[in-house]
Amino acid sequence: MKILVLNSGSSSLKFQLFDMTTMHTLATGLVEQIGESQSVTRMKFLKNNTAHTITADQPVHDHRQAITTMITLLKENRCLSGLKSLAGIGHRVVHGGERFQQPALINEHVSKIIEDLTPLAPLHNPANLMGIRVAREKAPLVPQVAVFDTAFHQTLPAHAYTYGLPYELYEKNRVRRYGFHGTSHYYVAKQAALHLGKNIDELKIISLHLGNGASCTAILNGRSIDTSMGMTPLEGLVMGTRCGDIDAGILFYLARETGRSMQELDDLLNKESGLKGICGENDMRTIIKQAGAGDGRAELALSVFCYRIKKYIGSYLAALNGADVLIFTGGIGENSPLVRARSCQDMENIGIAIDSAKNRSASAGSGSAGTLSPQIMEIQSKASSMKILVIPTNEELEIATQTLQHIQPDG
Ligand code: AMP
Repeated sequence: MKILVLNSGSSSLKFQLFDMTTMHTLATGLVEQIGESQSVTRMKFLKNNTAHTITADQPVHDHRQAITTMITLLKENRCLSGLKSLAGIGHRVVHGGERFQQPALINEHVSKIIEDLTPLAPLHNPANLMGIRVAREKAPLVPQVAVFDTAFHQTLPAHAYTYGLPYELYEKNRVRRYGFHGTSHYYVAKQAALHLGKNIDELKIISLHLGNGASCTAILNGRSIDTSMGMTPLEGLVMGTRCGDIDAGILFYLARETGRSMQELDDLLNKESGLKGICGENDMRTIIKQAGAGDGRAELALSVFCYRIKKYIGSYLAALNGADVLIFTGGIGENSPLVRARSCQDMENIGIAIDSAKNRSASAGSGSAGTLSPQIMEIQSKASSMKILVIPTNEELEIATQTLQHIQPDG
């Protein structure tokens, strides 16, 4: 039973094809720089149990052509006989507002609601919708499901999602905290429970998704009760190019003192801040190298990044009244022993202690080629009262799983 997962961005299309019966990835690929003079198309797939990669750099003018290219590649390489043979298509949708607490079977009504939510995610929802529209045209008989980044956080209590702003702004303008990365936080929380042989309902979990975007979530009995991203993905942890939590007064000060426009301030906080703003570099691998070579700014960026994580761990320990598990995931969380160690430094008195040797040797992988069981590493020391786990995330697999559950609830 095959499920195709599509993640359609403004100038890119990522796709992954799963065989949900044998639990294997059949193909994974992306089309980048859609609409530009040179696009990049890449697909990895398994043939006779061997991994192959194909690339092409012909221009891809729009999402319709990107999806046509993807279908051709999947067919030519015998990953799929045609879209008709799919059990379902799962679409990543960034913002589901308060309307979607669960995945939704896509029809005209659901598409319209996703469109209506565009003011909350002006860059993402229209791009996601482009992929949905073309996929529905190409495969009108295949059930298609929208899986929302925000849905997992719809269980936040009002005291966690309400800002200290006039209440009418929530009632009239939907200003509240929504949270993102929900698919990833839910996936790794479920994997942690499986790994520990526990029911997710009996665990208190703090999950850290540390990639280019980064967020921390407090999970009680399988439900998100607080998360660091807010109304937009700008709030919370320091990220690659996003500032995370700042004093909102800085915006008024900068507008007055430097005359920056609203768009310039938006770009400043979203694209020029975070790690990049502090040291000029947003790739954590480079920052670690530069800091190791004595670059003071890179060292500062690293310290600010890790200290913010540590503060969030502390505040969610308070929100949960203690926790059983701390999870590291995302490109940085899965691969950087240094960031893990520094984010948990000097926390033994509150039950968090990392074993240096285990931490150094833990580099997460997603199991052997094509299989879908993640390699989970435990890195806590004996002195730690909490389990500390490194778990490779797999948002696409979680979207495929939720898509299948939605179209075959009794399957
Ligand atoms: P993601 O957005 O989840 O793909 O994560 C991207 C981030 O992971 C980038 O900042 C990368 O530099 C970082 N990353 C990937 N591999 C490593 C590594 N081995 N050590 C440190 N950071 C890494």
